[in-house]
Amino acid sequence: MIYNRKPLQLISIDRALMKRWLAQALLLLCVQVCTMLPIATRTIADTAPLKIVATTGIVADLCKELGGSLVQVEALMGPGVDPHLYKATHGDLGSLRSADAIVFNGLHLEGKLSDILAALRTDKPVLALGELLPADRLLVVDPASKSIDPHIWFDVSLLAETIPGLTQFLVELLPGHAQTLRMQETALLGRFNELHRWAKAELSRLPEGRRVLVTAHDAFGYFGRAYGLEVHGLQGVSTAVEYGVHDIARIVELVVERKLPAIFVESSVPQRFVEAVIEGSRARGHIVALGGELYSDALGEPGSEAATYMGMVRHNVRHIVSALAPKAD
Ligand SMILES: [Zn+2]
Repeated sequence: MIYNRKPLQLISIDRALMKRWLAQALLLLCVQVCTMLPIATRTIADTAPLKIVATTGIVADLCKELGGSLVQVEALMGPGVDPHLYKATHGDLGSLRSADAIVFNGLHLEGKLSDILAALRTDKPVLALGELLPADRLLVVDPASKSIDPHIWFDVSLLAETIPGLTQFLVELLPGHAQTLRMQETALLGRFNELHRWAKAELSRLPEGRRVLVTAHDAFGYFGRAYGLEVHGLQGVSTAVEYGVHDIARIVELVVERKLPAIFVESSVPQRFVEAVIEGSRARGHIVALGGELYSDALGEPGSEAATYMGMVRHNVRHIVSALAPKAD
């Protein structure tokens, strides 16, 4: 009797936890079984279009821009989806299984997909863009844990540094198209360079005291470093860690103290986070406006300006400049 009772008690206490473990274990098992399929189903021929599965819309768009008609790209995460919290569906596993290659951001952005992506790595070409960057170009957010800020796409010149590595990855899979891919690489690097310079010029119009960006989560560290803005997030670099009352108080203090004219919401993070700061500031006698919606970790809806990476950068820069610039009245 005693032998039977103990495990039963444990199961009832940790049922939710066990369910999560079981679900995760099943997904992993699924991936592992799938990757044990006969070699013939996994051999990659040098034939375009190459089927690429990317995690975020941003990674997918970069692959599309570079590969053009030589690639067929599917993004697992659509508009408004938060990659920090995203869990793979069974449909995703099918997509990952049938892909010729997989590209993801890495640096723990896709926290809950890490095990699945690692399992697939032993079997098919998988590339993490973050791993293409030298350590001295990355921002360490917590020296104790040495955790790295994964939001590399906020500095256009930094994301551009991944293009040669991504090109090489595609060239190895499509050697017959190496020349076309190299030409597309050169063209894309030119467009990235132009976008980076435009963003720098636009943001340099903001006076010194207005170069403070407050957002829902700390996604804009690379943006701040590249374009000369001080950045503050209500949540940390990952939305997986909930914000607390002291985070709201800290940001309200900053907004009131520095008389900030506007703060921003993000398309992939709930708006209530930022609304709490607006309320708190009002209670302290300072009216701070909602500077509009910025795209942080996900692209916009198809057809919108932010449906592409470059459009997303232009949207964010324009919104930031217009909300933070002194009004001529
Ligand atoms: Zn993020």
